[in-house]
Amino acid sequence: MDLGTRKRHNLLELHQAIGLGESYLTAKPPELQLELTAKCNLSCRSCGRTHWGERRKPSELDPLLLPFLPPFLRLARGLTLGGYGEPTLSPLLLEVLSLGHTYACTTTLITNGTRLDRAFAADLAAVGLDRLVLSIDAVSDQLMHFLRGVPAATIWQGLEHARHIGCGLEVQTVAWAENLSELAELVDRAGKLGVEKVQVLLPKIYAQSLRASSPFLHRDRAEEAFAAARERAAVHDLDLRLPPLEQGSELRCRQPFEVLVLRHDGMVHACCSALFDGDRRALVAGSLRTTPLAELWNAEPLQRYRTAFHGRGPWPDVCLGCAFRLHTLEAYCRFLDQEDH
Ligand code: SF4
Ligand code: SF4
Repeated sequence: MDLGTRKRHNLLELHQAIGLGESYLTAKPPELQLELTAKCNLSCRSCGRTHWGERRKPSELDPLLLPFLPPFLRLARGLTLGGYGEPTLSPLLLEVLSLGHTYACTTTLITNGTRLDRAFAADLAAVGLDRLVLSIDAVSDQLMHFLRGVPAATIWQGLEHARHIGCGLEVQTVAWAENLSELAELVDRAGKLGVEKVQVLLPKIYAQSLRASSPFLHRDRAEEAFAAARERAAVHDLDLRLPPLEQGSELRCRQPFEVLVLRHDGMVHACCSALFDGDRRALVAGSLRTTPLAELWNAEPLQRYRTAFHGRGPWPDVCLGCAFRLHTLEAYCRFLDQEDH
């Protein structure tokens, strides 16, 4: 059976199991995410590592863990490289992208764009990168410097180089009260550079002083900015994803059914939330150094989540106030009570 057929069968088996309300899954996760490194060359306002960075040693993924991945890569549709560190700083980047390509996974690289020069773009093209996701929060140097500590021109230049990779391009932007005024221009500029999708995110609030900048508290201005951004997106036929500004909706986080995330230190999580924070605010399966990946995929916390999802038990504590389940300002502020620890 070829890889594509195996992947389709795996997905079908997964959907059937979810439909039957099962918590123990024999199908494998359709997505894998790898955090190649805990190092980063920026200190973004929106990032947990900026505020709690002292909890992270600047370490790298151990290459000895890579041979555990192929049985899962064979059945996964996608392999994403990203986390709370800049993957382009990892010496393993190209090797891991090639590995994903070997197993016919759609490869995605999430990057801050600071290292995307012409030569690097050529390297990414050579390993067949399928999708590049670039984090850009502003068009003006001043604002980008304030939000991410780097001139905007550097990152937009990186996006110019990325066009030569020949892969799909996406921009992720974190909306604050301070950058709403540039959102429409950002979408326009991204559209002109061939970006297919702009995903706008609301910020997780990691420090009390940032709470007042959440767009939840500037709803009229945010609605206006979103409407202007929609107009620009329509001109470029660009897929613009905007977050709802009304609070209260309950979301159906499906990550523990769909993804396993390997952290740089060998710990495996059931979701991409709070990778920087040990196991206190994240759904952690265990360590790949001591436990096979197949066992981690059905570890007790993941099964507990799935059982709760099917309405047959309580949610794991770490999920109760998570912004992937609850669309409220309080959920986006869930880290604040640990700020001083
Ligand atoms: S958001 Fe990304 S680029 Fe910014 S500090 Fe965090 S890991 Fe680095
Ligand atoms: S609700 Fe939050 S913590 Fe729980 S699995 Fe989803 S993303 Fe992770």
